[in-house]
Amino acid sequence: MSFPIRPSQTKIVATLGPACESPEMIRDMILAGVDVFRLNAAHGTLDDHQRRLQTVRQAEAELRRPVAVLLDLAGPKIRVGNISGGSLECHLNDVVRIVKDSTALNPGELSTTFPPILDDLEVGNRVLLADGLIELKVIGKSAEAVECRVVQPGIVRSRQGMHVPGARLRVRAMDDADFVAAEWAARNGIDFVGLSFVRTAKDIRELRDHLRGRNSEAHIIAKIEKAEALDCLDEIVSAADGVMVARGDLGVETDIARLAVAQKEIVRAAKRHRRPVIVATQMLDSMQHSPLPTRAEVTDVANAVLDGADACMLSGETAIGRFPLESVAMMHRIALAAEEYASFPGREAHRSDERNVFGGSDDSISESAALHAGWIAAELNAKLLIVATHSGKTALRISTHRFGMPTVGISANPTALRRMALYWGIIPLPQAPAAESDQLLRFVVQWGLKEKLLHAGDLVVTIHGTGFPGTAHNGILVQRVNDSSQAQDLEESRA
Ligand code: PEP
Repeated sequence: MSFPIRPSQTKIVATLGPACESPEMIRDMILAGVDVFRLNAAHGTLDDHQRRLQTVRQAEAELRRPVAVLLDLAGPKIRVGNISGGSLECHLNDVVRIVKDSTALNPGELSTTFPPILDDLEVGNRVLLADGLIELKVIGKSAEAVECRVVQPGIVRSRQGMHVPGARLRVRAMDDADFVAAEWAARNGIDFVGLSFVRTAKDIRELRDHLRGRNSEAHIIAKIEKAEALDCLDEIVSAADGVMVARGDLGVETDIARLAVAQKEIVRAAKRHRRPVIVATQMLDSMQHSPLPTRAEVTDVANAVLDGADACMLSGETAIGRFPLESVAMMHRIALAAEEYASFPGREAHRSDERNVFGGSDDSISESAALHAGWIAAELNAKLLIVATHSGKTALRISTHRFGMPTVGISANPTALRRMALYWGIIPLPQAPAAESDQLLRFVVQWGLKEKLLHAGDLVVTIHGTGFPGTAHNGILVQRVNDSSQAQDLEESRA
């Protein structure tokens, strides 16, 4: 297996699981292109996640490459309760009762892990079982149960998912297990926490309060997988730090025929709010069992890149599949191929939807400087754009404008470096603390020469803060690399 010499601009999120948790595999997956590892709280114990986290941190230190970790909270996923005998065959037009009391089930009855759901159901609602394979329609309701007719038959097994598309359910955004997992995330310095089944911006705020109350600065990724979330998308995206198009559940909760359209709407909302967006689920699904993906899967990953996703995610492909490393390598190759074809909107002339959205604050200065630094770099065909950043925020701004040239986010802050691991096109580069700005620049140029991103005569553009005014990024420098053997010899010209 050969490893990429060139990172893709589109980042790769890989889910950890039994198939890929060895130190050698995690190391190889980073070398093959993984930027973010996902721990799925819905599967495995916190002890499993602790062990995997430690392995990632060791590999990160060994390879000296910032790698972020995303803990995906299971959220209040509603399931069918235990069924005596393990399963129930639902024939077309059968009447199935879903009862509140799981202790006294009669034949042909089902229970649920969340009985209050039954109070929220109305006659006419659809109830989907087993990831949407079985469809029931509510035809009656009493204090103890709802009565449904089988519209699409099949066999339902104990503990399979139960979805009620379109119904507004009074379920808490986080259950007890989610709070415990979030506390674990806070104790362990997790970089991103994913919140499942988000319905309103309030859900995000609740998780944020919980994390901040435990001294965690973890960024929150809102998983968009409910129709209700699509109804108030802008509010949710604005309250979160990033978004995931969680196509698995979204394809059950909403009309699966609209999934591609929903993906485009979510990606566009993320762009509007300058948030990174991950496209997830079944991207290379057949690679769980096959060393090659289908044509449709290759096209799906490429289209996500062309839609403007910051990252594409692998789930079962890496967690439980037979070809985890091959899946990462394939996703990386598809991303590179699509990026060659992609147009980079940041290089186009002033577009009204890209105008500064931050009013007159320090943020607005950074936003404007980032945009213009990118334009200068594009116009001069600079070979490297460098952003010196404490929090990673300015790097995110450059990332969302999609200039498409190699861009280094340099920071002494490990948290910022790992955040930037998710941001499209940003190469996070660790810098020793307290370096002077000229040393810092020399360091990046030397690194660029070593990585063959720079050669003598190339231009580099740097955006940084001078400390006046405030914390804004207000300085842009354009410099020429004079001699590849003497990287410190930079010819300076003012922008
Ligand atoms: C999804 O539904 O697509 C998803 C990513 O969430 P989960 O894997 O937790 O079901």
